[in-house]
Amino acid sequence: MGLEEKLPNGILLASVEKLVNWTRKSSLWPATFGLACCAIEMMTTGAPRYDLARFGMEVFRASPRQADLMIVAGRVTNKMAPVLRQIYDQMPEPRWVLAMGVCASSGGMFNNYAVVQGVDHVVPVDMYLPGCPPRPEMLIDAILKIHQKIMDEPLGPKRAALLAESGHRTELLPSSVRYAKAGKLDKFQGPRDPRTAASPLVVGPAAARQAKQIEAGE
Ligand code: SF4
Repeated sequence: MGLEEKLPNGILLASVEKLVNWTRKSSLWPATFGLACCAIEMMTTGAPRYDLARFGMEVFRASPRQADLMIVAGRVTNKMAPVLRQIYDQMPEPRWVLAMGVCASSGGMFNNYAVVQGVDHVVPVDMYLPGCPPRPEMLIDAILKIHQKIMDEPLGPKRAALLAESGHRTELLPSSVRYAKAGKLDKFQGPRDPRTAASPLVVGPAAARQAKQIEAGE
């Protein structure tokens, strides 16, 4: 018999770690800045049509000291890189970084001396979002995946070391699969990695090709 069976109705039990992570992911506040065209999509994501406020994120903070998510929306020039790093340094821990679009992720089509070839040269990145520009739905999907990562984050260095040793990886499902109603899941369902039935779903034509290659032992 567990403790929960002795408690009256209306009392919930959770671990401190889960509770802390839940509060963190439910009130991510992005820093207010945009670097190029991707920023327009980011602004649209905050507007009523997509309504980022549903995820506790309606407040884009003007001060980095009140922000814990940096959305790098657009190409980062060498001139801008130190400014971006300074904003990052002024954000309190814990903080997360999302590289939005190909330019922020890898320099994209701007393969030249003026543009940083991936913002991970300047700050550590938690999530890369491809596309030029990624649509607001894609940004929301990336944010939901950051939520998944946050929910899996260990509290304290000892737990972090244990988790790293265990080889655990957060399962990052597309939100169309994760949040699909049970009866409608089939229409999103792609081929599975045949090596393990319990593996995450793989979706899209590239993933289907990959699954065939795995099946053929290539
Ligand atoms: S990825 Fe495309 S939309 Fe985004 S900053 Fe680069 S060129 Fe602009």
